[in-house]
Amino acid sequence: MTANIIDGNALAKKIRAEVADRAAALTARGHKPGLAVILVGEDPASQVYVKHKVADCEGCGMHSVLERHDASISEGELLARVAALNADPAIHGILVQMPLPKHIDPHKVIATISPLKDVDGFHIASAGALMVGQPGFKACTPYGCMKLIETTGIALKGKHAVVIGRSNTVGKPMALLLLQANCTVTICHSGTPDLGVHTRLADVVVAAVGRRNVLTADMVKPGAVVIDVGMNRNDEGKLCGDVDFAGVSQVAGWITPVPGGVGPMTRAMLLVNTIEAAERAAAN
Ligand code: NAP
Repeated sequence: MTANIIDGNALAKKIRAEVADRAAALTARGHKPGLAVILVGEDPASQVYVKHKVADCEGCGMHSVLERHDASISEGELLARVAALNADPAIHGILVQMPLPKHIDPHKVIATISPLKDVDGFHIASAGALMVGQPGFKACTPYGCMKLIETTGIALKGKHAVVIGRSNTVGKPMALLLLQANCTVTICHSGTPDLGVHTRLADVVVAAVGRRNVLTADMVKPGAVVIDVGMNRNDEGKLCGDVDFAGVSQVAGWITPVPGGVGPMTRAMLLVNTIEAAERAAAN
């Protein structure tokens, strides 16, 4: 079998166009959607990420603000900046780029973001809403993975899904979204003795580890949907995922590439969350 490629770039493009239409409609009613991105320090990868997020916003006709702060900013000063953005009616979404310098507690910063503007979906109120099945912002990466899985047309009800990784930002919310879609869900992590025992039974596998070749062809059920969240570098320095793409694509039915799979969808779902925040604010 040679797997169908799930094209994250194409889906993200379609979603960006839909967001642009919604942004234009809101703007015409006098409610231009706005996202504020806070970057602390000079981390090179973070600088690239925030640049893309701001450009994506502008590409969809949304207002965006990029606040850069020196790594020496105090926790109190940063919390005050978040509070000011909470109170700013032109801003509907607030994103604080992680990681933060060691002297700043990321949990405190996330807790200070208004849940109404928590477009990253990291606030405990958003995580809790997902846990109990209430409306709230979904973390962008797992939300994007669900949209990618949807494109396969496979009905998820009753399917066995295995999520590899249990981070608060990817693995856990991913498992909850799959559970909400009525999958039977297994979560694997670094303490799982034999991943293959679980993944070989899975109709859907989501790999979110951050290590190359965590999932190889012998670990995949023929025809399975394989979503690769990982972002790693191979020996040549090229971006690659957690999945042995060449091998697994011979067995799986559907697979996301890296790059061009989950990455663009994470960015697209941030726009979706931001437009939803703006629409909710405009409705009040
Ligand atoms: P993380 O916080 O480091 O979590 C990694 C998870 O993988 C942990 O739960 C860890 O288990 C588990 N793990 C580590 N080694 C394992 C092994 N050998 N077998 C099974 N599980 C193992 O990372 P993250 O933030 O979730 O991100 C995961 C990957 O996705 C990274 O490569 C990251 O760069 C990428 N990512 C990509 C996007 C995107 O848009 N494409 C977005 C977010 C993240 P323990 O909990 O037991 O330690």
